[in-house]
Amino acid sequence: ITGHEILLDRHTNKGTAFSIEERQIYRIHGLLPPTVTTLELQADRIMENLRNMSDDLARYIALSALQDRNEKLFYRVVMEYTQEIMPLVYTPTVGLACQKYGLIFSKPKGLFITIYDKGHIDDVLMNWPARDVRVIVVTDGERILGLGDLGCNGMGIPVGKLSLYTALAGVAPEYCLPITLDVGTNNESLLNDKYYLGLRQKRVTGKEYDEFIDEFMQAVVKQFGQECLIQFEDFANRNAFRLLKKYRDNYCTFNDDIQGTASVALAGILASLRITKRKLSDNVFVFYGAGEASIGMSNLLVFAMENEGIPVEEARKKIYLVDSKGLVVKNRPAGGLSEEKNRYAHEHEPINKLEDVIKTIKPSFLIGASGQGSAFTREILEIMISFNKRPVIFALSNPTSKAECTAREAYEATKGQCVFASGSPFPKYVYNDQTYVPGQGNNSYIFPGVGLSIVTCGIRHVPDEIFYIAAKTLSEQVTNEDLSVGLVYPPIEKIRTVSRKIAAAVAEYAYEQKLAAFYPKPIDLEKFIEEKQYIAEYECALPPRWSWEKEK
Ligand code: NAP
Ligand code: MN
Repeated sequence: ITGHEILLDRHTNKGTAFSIEERQIYRIHGLLPPTVTTLELQADRIMENLRNMSDDLARYIALSALQDRNEKLFYRVVMEYTQEIMPLVYTPTVGLACQKYGLIFSKPKGLFITIYDKGHIDDVLMNWPARDVRVIVVTDGERILGLGDLGCNGMGIPVGKLSLYTALAGVAPEYCLPITLDVGTNNESLLNDKYYLGLRQKRVTGKEYDEFIDEFMQAVVKQFGQECLIQFEDFANRNAFRLLKKYRDNYCTFNDDIQGTASVALAGILASLRITKRKLSDNVFVFYGAGEASIGMSNLLVFAMENEGIPVEEARKKIYLVDSKGLVVKNRPAGGLSEEKNRYAHEHEPINKLEDVIKTIKPSFLIGASGQGSAFTREILEIMISFNKRPVIFALSNPTSKAECTAREAYEATKGQCVFASGSPFPKYVYNDQTYVPGQGNNSYIFPGVGLSIVTCGIRHVPDEIFYIAAKTLSEQVTNEDLSVGLVYPPIEKIRTVSRKIAAAVAEYAYEQKLAAFYPKPIDLEKFIEEKQYIAEYECALPPRWSWEKEK
């Protein structure tokens, strides 16, 4: 790169941080104001500007533009001010950004592959400028957060998730590729929105859809190799389980909504037990919602109980699911149950209302992943505290508007006695002079670390065990001090170290199982992984120079 281009390329641009020497050599001297600034000062400037903005969508747009202009600075800001910036590049703001994608669109990020490209997916992948792609996050936009079908607007999700791969775990951004598969949308308001940028047609389903996804998977392997991780994100339930089953043994793939959520929830559950002082299998779990998230959590929970020596059948009996039709029970009239739900169906008479389920089942854990905002009413929370000293309440649905209850509602209704975590962040809460810090039970604690491990060690498959190990490692990072304020996840400031620990633990397992392709096995895995983590520091833009022949 020479001259002007160095300023225009987001990978090389340092803005006012170019030294005078760099400016002169690259012939950009005079194109920048004279003061040379540091990365720290640039980050301060960004933060001050963000704080002065009137709303989060404006902040999202500003950060997105920064990512296009100066990538290092963008990551510096996210990595240094994670707690403040994460809600802007990820849930909840990313939800709003997806809903308004067509309106706020300025510069595209990621790759769009449509059903009309069927037969030519390979050609589209070839158009991506980077060649060493190691992580793809892909969505078809049908179930974006708890917001439903957003079609092509779903692109915000893979973009945001991959930003977190870099910011929270240090996967280099050039390895990351966000993809949206556009097969149409059934969202009428989008189809009638003049700014909508996706295909204006109903979703293609059935055989044509399946062939399209098959072709996509094969094309990725052809273009980027079999070790390229393909993370499925925000697919509708009926496709998510099916595709995971179909591809998990033949590709390097996982479904974050099923498996990542399961892992982060299990970590929170394990940490909660240190507060409630109970064994895992001494608990009864009610999941509100029986979809990808809840089924994934249930499956991993059973796996964890098995590890405590509890037989599968017995472990399953401790888990109750509630879906849109009420308690999931055997012999449901009409329609029957999916295979996934059936595993957890109890011999029990039907109960429709959650309140009545709670009264009858008396769970110690109430975990929401239903996308139904405010479903955990004050009455329900009060019933939970009536038979539990320390009930555990997780309101995991995203974005914030879909959370089953807020942190404040949970603490107030239980007089500060509940252990609470939520999918989207809630502020600290002071009740009776005691400060409570709600944990963010979000898979952003899991997928970046797992992905870092896969990418650095060349892990070929992602069995459930990996998510179990990740959950255990995450819960071990929670200190007694964290627990004393009710926090069942480590503070987000520690996330880079936490991700590395998860990556190292997962890698250890992968080498044992002969799933890792990178050889020889590094002697110190954590150190090896640390050396591979992306750092948000500028490098000298000048080529190396040395004195030569005539000086000898
Ligand atoms: P999903 O597969 O579509 O499942 C949604 C489930 O909610 C279904 O079982 C559905 O019932 C049930 N449901 C819908 N309305 C209900 C009602 N009125 N009462 C009871 N149950 C109802 O979606 P998902 O992937 O599981 O995601 C669900 C939520 O979890 C979303 O808001 C998502 O943002 C959140 N989530 C959070 C995280 C995190 O990291 N915290 C991760 C993943 C997902 P039927 O089965 O009867 O249709
Ligand atoms: Mn998701």
